Amino acid sequence: MSKAKIPGAKGHRIETRLTHLGSSPFENFGFVNPPLYRGSTVLFPTVEAYVSHAQDYTYGRRGTPTIRALENAITALEGGAHSVLTPSGLSACAIGLLSVVSAGGHVLVTDSVYKPTRKICQNILKRLGVEASFFDPLIGAGIADLIQDNTQLIYTESPGSLSFEIQDLPAIAKAAHDRDVPVLSDNTWATPLYYNPLALGADIVVHAGTKYFGGHADVNLGSVTTTQALAKQLRQTHGDLGQCPGPEDTQLCLRGLRTLAVRLERHWKSALDMANWFAARPEVARVIHPAREDHPQHDIWKRDFSGASGLFSIILKPCPDNALAAMVNDLTLFGIGSSWGGYESLVIPFDPASYRTATQWKAEGPALRFHIGLENVDDLKADLEAGFKRLAGNR
Ligand SMILES: *Cc1c(COP(=O)(O)O)cnc(C)c1O
Repeated sequence: MSKAKIPGAKGHRIETRLTHLGSSPFENFGFVNPPLYRGSTVLFPTVEAYVSHAQDYTYGRRGTPTIRALENAITALEGGAHSVLTPSGLSACAIGLLSVVSAGGHVLVTDSVYKPTRKICQNILKRLGVEASFFDPLIGAGIADLIQDNTQLIYTESPGSLSFEIQDLPAIAKAAHDRDVPVLSDNTWATPLYYNPLALGADIVVHAGTKYFGGHADVNLGSVTTTQALAKQLRQTHGDLGQCPGPEDTQLCLRGLRTLAVRLERHWKSALDMANWFAARPEVARVIHPAREDHPQHDIWKRDFSGASGLFSIILKPCPDNALAAMVNDLTLFGIGSSWGGYESLVIPFDPASYRTATQWKAEGPALRFHIGLENVDDLKADLEAGFKRLAGNR
């Protein structure tokens, strides 16, 4: 087969690639999907082969064909040089950080970062003698003033967790590269379908595959992808720390990728429809959705992203706690729970005010984060309409 004819090769568009990446049916007796390999021991045919380790697979923890298939698919989607898989999104964030830091170093981290990632910085990195400082997610080129001689990484996440600030990644990356500092991007919200951090100047991309890659709320998995320049450091750090995802999770994530394009398009359309519906409600003070023109960084979103996913936040006008509880507790179609990216709708209250350090979180009233699943939006609106009635009845 000539290269252009390989299904999922670079010449094809992303929906086509998602359908085929990581799969080689004729290496598997023609079966469409790669098999699920489980195993710790990998045998070598001879003593000589064992000593030289000269074969593709050498030890279960170091990778299986199932793991390689997903790694290769993610590398191709992100346009990187190398990817590794980890047992959770958070462990991917940790591996991304640990691949580049060393004692006496410094990392700059967006103040809008996923909260458990902040804890990695404040606990483990601190113990290892690495200082973390947090920066305003809207800083853009101004990051140049915060880069120190010992800065080893700039950690971005766009949009920010819960608060959805969009970062000017090209401006941050330019300032970083002027000082030879690598940039990491947590791309969990948009996925490579709608945002390509490496093309915008990032050097490392992390994902919680737990979210949209898996897509069915039944997987914990993470990935880290780098450019060629950082591939060796990444591979070594990942190997030394003994990270490996479970075989089922890997297989489920690979399976989820096949439908990512159709799921995400639906999440995007439905969530934007719901965001616009919320914006017209008298109970709502503000909607925070990057694809809405009233989002403060809408222009950057429009410039850098080609789509949006199903997650956004709203700020309600002030109301008593019991009114909010009456509204949310009895919703039938919105589960109360963290994680997201599955097919089902979710809602959680949030308040980043207590842990932000570089910026102040200010909200007019209670803040809610919604994940809009694949349900019919009219059913979701009816459920919320009833919720708003309970809110009014309990004021
Ligand atoms: C959920 C999430 C993670 C962590 O993923 P887990 O698989 O739950 O550990 C990391 N980053 C972002 C932006 C997330 O939303």
